[in-house]
Amino acid sequence: MSTYTESIEKLMERLIKLPGIGRRSAERIVGYILNVSIQEIKSLSEAICNVKENVRFCRICNNLSEQELCRICQDSRRKKDILCIVEKPSDVSAIEKTGNFGGVYHVLLGSISPLEGIGPTDLKINGLINRIKQENIKEVIIATDFDTEGETTALYLTGLLKPQGVKLTRIGVGIPMGSNLEYADSPTLSMAFASRREI
Ligand SMILES: [Zn+2]
Repeated sequence: MSTYTESIEKLMERLIKLPGIGRRSAERIVGYILNVSIQEIKSLSEAICNVKENVRFCRICNNLSEQELCRICQDSRRKKDILCIVEKPSDVSAIEKTGNFGGVYHVLLGSISPLEGIGPTDLKINGLINRIKQENIKEVIIATDFDTEGETTALYLTGLLKPQGVKLTRIGVGIPMGSNLEYADSPTLSMAFASRREI
């Protein structure tokens, strides 16, 4: 039998549903909530609601945006003929932090995973070929993760895009096998971009 009050139990039940939050973390968050001012907590819940209400996916690249087009797609200084394909918006953020990539992105919003029943049609691949043709893309960099799903996705994209006659490259050296792009530090990611190889 729990020694917590009813409303604390209810909050913990919800917190445990969040990714990476177990019961102990939920207890710590509840402790924090009880310790700070009601204003702090109202600001927090308002920030959560604002994200849910205002953030959507960019019409061109599927990156996160609060307008029809994301900041990167709107930026006329970006090289529009070099396209980097990533799995998630957090990968865009990791690559942008390196400051070394001046092109544009295409975010798949997932990766192929036969085990979880996720196939190519579940990803944002539609429109990719059209985009490559219409925007006169010269090079496509495949920057999916180096785990099984990421490699499977890279292989699928290679088969799909190779016949388009576009220069295809895969980022490489420095990122350990089986790892996720977003956790690589900036120097490693910069090196992976610099040492990308043609496929
Ligand atoms: Zn965009």
